[in-house]
Amino acid sequence: MRARLLWKASEEVSIFDWIAGICSASVVERRFSVKFAPAMLQINAERLWASLMELARIGATPKGGVRRLTLSDVDRQGRDLFVRWCTEAGLAIEVDRIGNVFARRPGTDAALPPVAMGSHLDSQPSGGKFDGAYGVMAGLEVLRTLNDAGIRTRAPLEVVSWTNEEGSRFVPTLMGSGVFAGVFPLESIYESKDVDGVTVRDALKQIGYAGNAASHALGAYFEAHIEQGPVLEETKTTIGVVLGALGQRWFDVAIAGQDSHAGPTPMETRKDALVAASRLVLEVNRIATAFPDYARGTVGFMQVKPNSRNVVPGEVRMTVDFRNAKDKTLSAMCDELDVSISRVEKELRVEIEKKQVVYFPPSEFAADLVDSVRAGSKALGYSHRDIVSGAAHDAVYMARVAPTAMVFVPCEGGISHNELESARAEDLAAGCNVLLQAVLKKAGTA
Ligand SMILES: [Zn+2]
Repeated sequence: MRARLLWKASEEVSIFDWIAGICSASVVERRFSVKFAPAMLQINAERLWASLMELARIGATPKGGVRRLTLSDVDRQGRDLFVRWCTEAGLAIEVDRIGNVFARRPGTDAALPPVAMGSHLDSQPSGGKFDGAYGVMAGLEVLRTLNDAGIRTRAPLEVVSWTNEEGSRFVPTLMGSGVFAGVFPLESIYESKDVDGVTVRDALKQIGYAGNAASHALGAYFEAHIEQGPVLEETKTTIGVVLGALGQRWFDVAIAGQDSHAGPTPMETRKDALVAASRLVLEVNRIATAFPDYARGTVGFMQVKPNSRNVVPGEVRMTVDFRNAKDKTLSAMCDELDVSISRVEKELRVEIEKKQVVYFPPSEFAADLVDSVRAGSKALGYSHRDIVSGAAHDAVYMARVAPTAMVFVPCEGGISHNELESARAEDLAAGCNVLLQAVLKKAGTA
């Protein structure tokens, strides 16, 4: 499989060069640089798939998904299997105080901070086989491949499995990476309870994963993940080069007008809160369409009072959800909405109050790591496109403490958080090969 792929790539280049003619020096140069480049190391696609399938047996559901709620006994079994595989691969295991598991392969320069890869092994109550599990198994497969090839890196390498990414049994979501990145204080997280009143502290002890490893610096963090959306599949693209994750600002908006009789009240004196709200819905949509950087704007909730067919509505409560990949643009969208609000207030004789209820800054991934994901895809001959993540991942918090990048691969129908979640073995292997190249570039070879 590997030999065939490489042979095909070099053949395509040769034919292209032949057609282009040998009169162009740059083409000749390119031809030689391709021809004599060392063969690119490739991961073992069958082993990656087999590991994912064996892991998916733990907590398997009848419909083909998994139910591995965080810090449950089933989660413990998944962790134990991961730890066993890591130990067999000669990796050193550490567990920190929130139960994050780190498996380390030493580098030749112990002074360098480790380059980490990972994701999560917990799932939604009716989750799929690939969300999270793929990122952890891909990291392990990279290290197994380096072991097989006898390649040592300068920086140490780590595979990490973060505790409770899903936030389903215990809130908040992204718990383990959030504690590691200093976003959440450990003591208050320990007190978080599930519906049965069990605390995170007790659940960690119960499954034997309350460790004591100290937090440590990382030289970089890479996360491979299924896209969980439809873009890659619809555009027949193998690799999503993830530029970052969208930031979010959520608002509650209250519009105060005046209830009045639908008959006797002339149009020009009305204080119609619903007409004002309608104008704002269109403004939110216009702003999200007009602004760059993957802008999104949604009004998904509205309450009208008194909600009676022959009364001019005197009060509306609604929400606004703005998202953007760039913090500045996200703020500019909100400023533009403020301008619209002032105009609507004046023209429609209503008072509008806007209150921010959620702010989650965008994470922009490290430009050089994103470049290496793109370059790796290109060198391996995979179709690829830049993409932003609409969903949050552990990488979002890691980006606050280490240079971070993500690799997306397609999933069937864009379906995730669902037992039917599915991905193709060749796409998963492709993402893992890109991960391998990006990690080697960052960690350096001895
Ligand atoms: Zn996930």
